[in-house]
Amino acid sequence: MSVQDCIFCKIVDGTIPSAKVYEDEVCVAFNDLSPQAPTHILIIPKEHVDSLAKTEANDKETLGHLLISAAEIARGHGFADDGYRVVINTNNDGGQTVFHLHVHLLAGRQFVFPPG
Ligand code: 5GP
Ligand code: ZN
Repeated sequence: MSVQDCIFCKIVDGTIPSAKVYEDEVCVAFNDLSPQAPTHILIIPKEHVDSLAKTEANDKETLGHLLISAAEIARGHGFADDGYRVVINTNNDGGQTVFHLHVHLLAGRQFVFPPG
């Protein structure tokens, strides 16, 4: 799939609307369309990367940025102390359906492990 057809690139450029909760020069965070928990936020890099499987050493800063942003959003929304789960579904067996790297930030209920 080309970047032009990527739904998350369209969310970054505003072609597809989203409920944004955070944005900076590197990433955008918005509510998942089909929430799996009371809070379900997706954090994505503005620059297209297919998946975690495609990242390399020069993506270190972006990956760190996504996780630090998750921690900041959790603190900002007041659920850091109760806890939350961060998930990066990767490729087919990982359950990835949108091939633009994204971090799921889930909170507001207790999660089981291992996930299904
Ligand atoms: P994946 O299964 O690839 O890890 O996660 C993709 C996520 O993107 C799913 O949780 C799905 O609900 C969400 N999603 C797919 N399309 C859209 C959209 O157009 N807008 C928003 N906000 N979320 C979407
Ligand atoms: Zn994309």
